[in-house]
Amino acid sequence: MAKKDFYEILGVSRNADEAELKKAYRKMALKYHPDKNPGDKAAEERFKEAAEAYEVLSDKDKRARYDQFGHAGMGNGGGGYGGGGFSGGGMNMEDIFSQFGDIFGSGSFGGGFGRGSGGGGRRVNRGTNLRVKVKLNLEEIANGATKKIKVNKYISCNSCKGTGAESASGFSNCSTCHGSGQVTRVTDTILGRMQTTTTCPYCGGEGKTIKNKCNTCFGDGIVKGDEVIEINIPAGVSDEMQLSMNGKGNAAARGGVPGDLIIAIEEEPHEHLKRDGINLHYDLHISFIDAALGTSIEVPTIDGKARIKIEPGTQGGKVLRLRDKGLPDINNNRHKGDLLVDINVWTPRNLSNEERTLLEKLRNSENFKPKPDKNDKSFFEKMKDYFH
Ligand SMILES: [Zn+2]
Ligand SMILES: [Zn+2]
Repeated sequence: MAKKDFYEILGVSRNADEAELKKAYRKMALKYHPDKNPGDKAAEERFKEAAEAYEVLSDKDKRARYDQFGHAGMGNGGGGYGGGGFSGGGMNMEDIFSQFGDIFGSGSFGGGFGRGSGGGGRRVNRGTNLRVKVKLNLEEIANGATKKIKVNKYISCNSCKGTGAESASGFSNCSTCHGSGQVTRVTDTILGRMQTTTTCPYCGGEGKTIKNKCNTCFGDGIVKGDEVIEINIPAGVSDEMQLSMNGKGNAAARGGVPGDLIIAIEEEPHEHLKRDGINLHYDLHISFIDAALGTSIEVPTIDGKARIKIEPGTQGGKVLRLRDKGLPDINNNRHKGDLLVDINVWTPRNLSNEERTLLEKLRNSENFKPKPDKNDKSFFEKMKDYFH
């Protein structure tokens, strides 16, 4: 089910400011408010859509995430892309009405509009969220990946098409609420007559009861089953990040709204490269002969090998930076990290007699005595380069 663009829903441009958003949402909320459109399902849908769009666009972080990744990239709970708690498509009337204080100010709605008045409060079953882990290696993280995973979850019952009833005529209106899903109680108090409306306790707000339950799901409308889900993972994700797919979680009882699928990313360590944010590191060991004479040497990168030049007189601790050979930045798809080659000068541990004799000859040579000059950066300066 493709979701509509949040900006289109509110009828504002992509660079609308806070005041414009608020004004647009106010207009929509007034127009499609359930109290003004009793029993109009389409109006209720528009009302919910507008609330959801406003909920995201009015929050700076959520809006930024939405601008970049669209509906697919909206994180849910916990980490997410920076920890937003937005669950798309899942706003219920209670959430929406609780938002109103901010939008309309207290009292400006005239008291009459609010929670529970009119017929807008029928409860919708909601499936629970489902959580899966997806393991990715560094190459997949660098390029983005499509993963097909088999998920065991609640799916809609095939025998009854999710209704829970044996046949289409297997329903009757709830005898307690006569199909409205709500019961109204009138009590006399010293202040006069008080009318309270609550969810029907008999049918749980669904308004109907099943005469003959489906034999497969015993009336739940859902059964356990496997579903193969294709997950598109954007390039640049990192360990413990969470992605959310709307409506791919557990199906809800009797045709309600399915929950979300939460995908937790697990990063597999790479054989040679270490990750540091968007940068990658490779620990290169060279002999002190190569360090002194210079050489050219192959190093692994995320997409094959690269040949790098070691200048004569290279010091241990030098860092060579291979631009754009790191990982893509998930927050800015034009930006890529670097591969940093950390040069270690390898000192031999075992020497033959012949080798020892050769080195002994060099020991007192003037050129072999350490003479650091101002071009040899201190450890502190190297760290500064590194984080530049
Ligand atoms: Zn069934
Ligand atoms: Zn009922």
